[in-house]
Amino acid sequence: MTDTTRAEQPVTEAEFAALKDRVAAWVTGPGEEWAERIETTGEVPEELWAELRGHGFLRMAAPVEYGGFGLTFPQWMELMEVFSRSHGSTRMIVHVVNGIWRAMDPFADEEQRKKFVLPAISGDIKIAFTLTEPGNGTGADITSTVVREGDTYYLTGHKHLITFGVRCDYYLLAARVDGTTGHEGTVALLVPRHAEGVHAEDTSRTMGVTGTDHAEIRFDRTPVPVAHRLGREGEGLDVALGGFLTPSRISVGMSCVGLAQRAQELALDYAERRVSFGKALSRRQAVQFMLAENAADIEAAKHLVLHAARRFEEGGDDASMLSSMAKMTAVSMLTRVTDNALQVHGGLGYWKTSPIERVYRDARAQRFEEGTNEIQKTVVFRELTRLRTQPADAATAQGGAK
Ligand SMILES: Cc1cc2nc3c(=O)[nH]c(=O)nc-3n(C[C@H](O)[C@H](O)[C@H](O)COP(=O)(O)OP(=O)(O)OC[C@H]3O[C@@H](n4cnc5c(N)ncnc54)[C@H](O)[C@@H]3O)c2cc1C
Repeated sequence: MTDTTRAEQPVTEAEFAALKDRVAAWVTGPGEEWAERIETTGEVPEELWAELRGHGFLRMAAPVEYGGFGLTFPQWMELMEVFSRSHGSTRMIVHVVNGIWRAMDPFADEEQRKKFVLPAISGDIKIAFTLTEPGNGTGADITSTVVREGDTYYLTGHKHLITFGVRCDYYLLAARVDGTTGHEGTVALLVPRHAEGVHAEDTSRTMGVTGTDHAEIRFDRTPVPVAHRLGREGEGLDVALGGFLTPSRISVGMSCVGLAQRAQELALDYAERRVSFGKALSRRQAVQFMLAENAADIEAAKHLVLHAARRFEEGGDDASMLSSMAKMTAVSMLTRVTDNALQVHGGLGYWKTSPIERVYRDARAQRFEEGTNEIQKTVVFRELTRLRTQPADAATAQGGAK
């Protein structure tokens, strides 16, 4: 497909409105056809990736000088809201590809920028974020280990639940130098998917987000050039958990808002169509209350997410805390809204023939992505404490949108 959307300058308001209309038209047209096809076949073919790439949808969040659209972060979030009304796998591709460059870019040297960051933005390579391990938490207790011999690291370890872990070209992987503990000695490496000693098992059968590939991966003395290390030894978790997580959590928060809007739309339509005891469901106060609560819930979460997005864009010191607040608020909202929306559908909503059934399953995955609510609460409390004890101007800013 021909790429005709490369922008040379940041978009104006009018251009942004047109862009949003274009995304909405794709989501409600081809996006819905893709949703049906994915649910029927259980697969996300390369053709979907190519279509998203062809429309420029995978590089929208990047700066113009990197081939992106030069959107502000809040503008990008408005587009994520629309994309998130699609199938969970479409949202996953758009969210991950538009976000992973943010983790790499601050730590990449010029060579690495050319080899990894820009091709990830253009869609020439796929990169899987590879942190979670079966035997550990998702942080400083990781045990995947490297031993350095000359210009090569040899990686031994075990990762699981890794999105795009089968079809990716590289793993952006967090490990540690043998013999170190905690943050000390952690490294972020770009590990070629087909390097020696990489054993990826396809574990894609999930409750929702059908068709997205996931893998459990073992590394057995896999050679990785030292030139594939982002940042220094000791900065591995800064790459994996650093400034990148703040925008990513906000993006997941907005994904919840978009998907909740879709659930609400389906419930409103159904409540108008379905007649019981001579009246449409939408004329029953009990149903009206559920839908009214949903509407208020969605609106409240959306404004918190947008507030977090604006604070991130401004480099606000409270952006990290707000991103976790936004993520946990939005994900709890999504749980309530999808539950109400399915309830409005009655028993029919439990059937795979009802679109709400898929929305309900896709929604559940959001409670894990970028950390559970328990982890968000620990971040909020840590940041609350930091902000109380550190004057705003002396405190570390969380970084802007680029
Ligand atoms: C669809 C999907 C895609 C994913 N994709 C990726 C990916 O691409 N890359 C990647 O690296 N990971 C990925 N993950 C993993 C995801 O990040 C983790 O599932 C999530 O962070 C939770 O970690 P865990 O599964 O190890 O749960 P555990 O750490 O085992 O936690 C289990 C439960 O205990 C709670 N808990 C754990 N520790 C604490 C604590 N200290 N205090 C209070 N409560 C606690 C948790 O909140 C959770 O409810 C994916 C997960 C899913 C579901």
